Amino acid sequence: MKKQFVIIGLGRFGVSVCSELHELGHEVMAIDMNEDKLNEVTDVATHSAIADGTDEKSLRGLGVRNFDHVIVAIGDNIQASILCTLLLKEMDIPDVWVKAQNYYHHKVLDKIGADHIIHPEHDMGHRIAQHLVSDKVLDYIELSDEYSIVEIVVSSSFHNKTLLETDIRAKYGVTILAIKRNEHVNISPMPDDKLFHKDVLVVVGRKKDLKRFESIS
Ligand code: ATP
Repeated sequence: MKKQFVIIGLGRFGVSVCSELHELGHEVMAIDMNEDKLNEVTDVATHSAIADGTDEKSLRGLGVRNFDHVIVAIGDNIQASILCTLLLKEMDIPDVWVKAQNYYHHKVLDKIGADHIIHPEHDMGHRIAQHLVSDKVLDYIELSDEYSIVEIVVSSSFHNKTLLETDIRAKYGVTILAIKRNEHVNISPMPDDKLFHKDVLVVVGRKKDLKRFESIS
């Protein structure tokens, strides 16, 4: 279903979210106080406007309160990010995502009711570190302090074996969500599905179990 989003702040992060939402078929209103920044989204934003995200009158004038989802991607100006978020929550926007700069910024955003607080640089650093330490881990998503999802390349030791034969769940306590082979993705694979060297497994589990699985897979 097509959704409508507002993005306030068109730095690299805001522009990237805007492009991806457009690519996924959604409508985006892009707002920035700097006119030059709007030029970067002419092809991907449904509407764009020069406005100050801390100016309630401007936000109301643009009809921002009619949107369910707003992303505050104002970066360095923490004060503006906080004030903008406060205004959006006062307008009763149900789903406000805010990019946080640091721990204190995060704490304030939490207190004033931001629905999702994101740390793109920190999260990306985390994911890249996982790639760096292991040539088998292709991607990494942290679900909580305890659990994550990883994409792992199948080694030759599992080549031509069925999932049942590998007994991965019982031996390592992790669950295979999908097997990727070239362009094909087998979601929720069956016990008699086979693994081949260089397949990619999407696996969920406790971090320590995933580490153990990664070291032998
Ligand atoms: P990124 O890392 O995503 O490139 P950044 O964290 O460096 O961004 P900035 O470049 O400081 O963030 O800000 C992102 C955008 O937010 C800029 O284009 C800036 O013009 C815009 N911006 C800053 N303050 C406001 C405001 N009060 N209202 C609207 N836009 C704003």
